[in-house]
Amino acid sequence: MIDVFEMQYEELLELLSSWGEPSYRADQIWSWIYRSLVVQANEMHNLPRELRRRLEESLGWQVLWPVDRLLSGDGLTEKVLFHLHDEETIESVLMRYEERRTVCVSTQVGCPVGCSFCATGQSGFKRNLTAGEILAQVLHFARGLAPAGAHITNVVFMGMGEPLMNYDATWEAIRRLNDHRGFNLGARHFTISTAGWVPGIRDMAQEKQAVGLGISLHATNDELRNQLVPLNRRYPLAVLTRACREYTRKTRRRITFEYALMDGVNDTPAHAKELAELTQGLLRHVNLIPLNPTSECEYRPSRKDRIERFRRALEASGVPCTLRISRGVDIQAGCGQLRARSRDRTRVEPNS
Ligand code: SAH
Ligand code: SF4
Repeated sequence: MIDVFEMQYEELLELLSSWGEPSYRADQIWSWIYRSLVVQANEMHNLPRELRRRLEESLGWQVLWPVDRLLSGDGLTEKVLFHLHDEETIESVLMRYEERRTVCVSTQVGCPVGCSFCATGQSGFKRNLTAGEILAQVLHFARGLAPAGAHITNVVFMGMGEPLMNYDATWEAIRRLNDHRGFNLGARHFTISTAGWVPGIRDMAQEKQAVGLGISLHATNDELRNQLVPLNRRYPLAVLTRACREYTRKTRRRITFEYALMDGVNDTPAHAKELAELTQGLLRHVNLIPLNPTSECEYRPSRKDRIERFRRALEASGVPCTLRISRGVDIQAGCGQLRARSRDRTRVEPNS
């Protein structure tokens, strides 16, 4: 049985037409799912009873089951662990700050890249998520906000997995959430973060929608980056930065470089200078973030004075940057950490 969240609009239209239904029914159903955010055909009051029954019986209506939920001390960050059809688990985070309500979504169960500082990378790789499983994470949080009249303003692909290695499902989810007949979230409100999957960066340069691109750099020379981000052995810095230059040239869009500061590893003023040289000529912005330590990780976050020194050196080299304070550290907000916690426990309490 196909899940309704896996269907494109045209597929729904085709199904309904094969049932002899008029085409405006597809618009009504689309609006119920992506605007009213309902999860049952039974709630679609403007459809005939018989059609509602048929939709319920012929399609699946759930792809994610929330099983654990953690709220940060300040109540602004919420992390949810979901079960999938096959009992695999993924996690997603809702972050509220100022006017923004940002969902951080997963695109894979685990991750094939295996970065040495990342909880997801340490957990191995199971499978790609489907487009429905990706977008349902966003709909879940949107549903929670709706009673207060609030909306999701941003979606970042920074949860578990490497989104560009699951390119088609990731982009299908973006297109579906961007669709003006439904969820209608503008392309600029999405950001894809990649560890440097070069074929995906090239493909992104061809896309019509102006979705943001983030590159998780973390190191400024191949020797160190090979250790931290093993994908670098396949696409070393020269190849990665060339792809970034082509992307900038084609799209005129700014690239955000993510840089997790690790004590004594990548946080000297000399590293800052290298970072400036490496990204020279690109429309660039650097996001600095102190490493969020994971249980199996040998690296520690940089001390405050070292972070400050790094930031000053970067700015002196003319690189615009922001220091991101790690949000929700008290709820294991680092990618893959809630899932690791749940594996360590004997039982997961259903919640919500
Ligand atoms: N796979 C993609 C997107 C998911 S990871 C990528 O790597 O870009 C999202 C971000 O969290 C990346 O920038 C990643 O490098 C960063 N990250 C992972 N583990 C971290 C940790 N322990 N501390 C700080 N940042 C971390
Ligand atoms: Fe995968 Fe990103 Fe984690 Fe690296 S940082 S293991 S690419 S999820």
